[in-house]
Amino acid sequence: MKKDKHNHVQALRDVQHFGEEGGVVPVIDVAATSTFMHPKDMERVFDGELQGCYLYSRHSNPTVNMFGKKLAAMDAAEAALGVSSGMAAICCTLEQICSQGDHIIASDTIYGGSYALFAHLFPRKGIEVSFVDIANLDKVKACVKPNTKVIYAETVSNPMLAVADIAGLKKITVANHAQLVIDNTFMPSIVTPIPLGADIVVYSCTKYISGASDLIAGAIVGSSDFISSLLDINSGHVMLTGPVLDPRISHELYMRLDHLPVRMKAHSDAALYFAEKLEERGLKPVYPGLKSHTSHKLLADQVNAHTGFGGMVALNVGSLEKARSLAEKLQNEKFALFAVSLGFSRTLVSIPAASTSSEIPAEDREKLGLSDGILRFSIGYLGDLEVMTKRFFKCFDEIF
Ligand code: PLP
Repeated sequence: MKKDKHNHVQALRDVQHFGEEGGVVPVIDVAATSTFMHPKDMERVFDGELQGCYLYSRHSNPTVNMFGKKLAAMDAAEAALGVSSGMAAICCTLEQICSQGDHIIASDTIYGGSYALFAHLFPRKGIEVSFVDIANLDKVKACVKPNTKVIYAETVSNPMLAVADIAGLKKITVANHAQLVIDNTFMPSIVTPIPLGADIVVYSCTKYISGASDLIAGAIVGSSDFISSLLDINSGHVMLTGPVLDPRISHELYMRLDHLPVRMKAHSDAALYFAEKLEERGLKPVYPGLKSHTSHKLLADQVNAHTGFGGMVALNVGSLEKARSLAEKLQNEKFALFAVSLGFSRTLVSIPAASTSSEIPAEDREKLGLSDGILRFSIGYLGDLEVMTKRFFKCFDEIF
């Protein structure tokens, strides 16, 4: 049987912080600033001579650090840092590495917000971005230039569920002294990108890591040196642009990491069941857990043991009109909530071409197969699988 060499679940278990008076849950340290007993010590912190002191919560905070330690343990990394959103994680990471005159190679099938950041904001800062079919390693290699600093991809992409070959991309970055940055938002605890070759992992914790669709947060995972560089008082992008994570939210996420692997398995099981039922009906769902998916084997080689293949499924229903009608019915019949975002306990359905991928120009969307009729499902684990699938087909049959 396949074994997760790193054993992310055991790593989570073995992170242990006690609360005051021996509590099994750590306390939340909300202090915005910390005292120094000797004024000279504060000066030494600013001079970079004294490290590891708490000074000001934008620089470091015990509860934010605790969440970082636990996430890093799960991801087999030296360090991690919670930030205020997934976009903050992506932007701070890339701007920490790249400056004017540098070049990024990005997957052409990524979250629309990331696409807009790369296509519109980075060129204004003199950072050039080439979008490429990340599944075609020859094409990726052909895009490399002397000033390429980063290759960027989503483990499983939003919304087309294209699978990145992390080890294959790593070889290209190593040969060209670039860094591999992987957005693992869709697959936390299912794929552990760092042992596979990623240098840095970014997350929108708003999604599965939260699991409750009740907060916005992000995280950056990598080497201790990289995470420290983000907090440098003279040049750190998190420290100086300020999108830090609130300690209260850090504590929430710290607690929720314990049940993340259990939730991800439940999402995976429900999504596989749903995708198989669609396939049995002769439909063509996109789900990398299905053997018929072109990248099934590639993903099977990268997932940890006993995790499944994630909770996201896409289905092309032919046109925007049909997608709208079906989505509305699915909400009325309590199969799904019509909403963007993902990773909730209940199924969410959206129409990416008309929402979270609308930033990608229509002709590029067509080339990617991201047509107007695609519905994206974030399959929840709440509800009886048979009952929920029956509800889906009742709605589907009324329209088709
Ligand atoms: N990365 C992916 C894959 C996403 O789907 C999203 C949001 O939908 C983000 C990053 C951005 O995350 P946030 O909304 O937390 O800023």
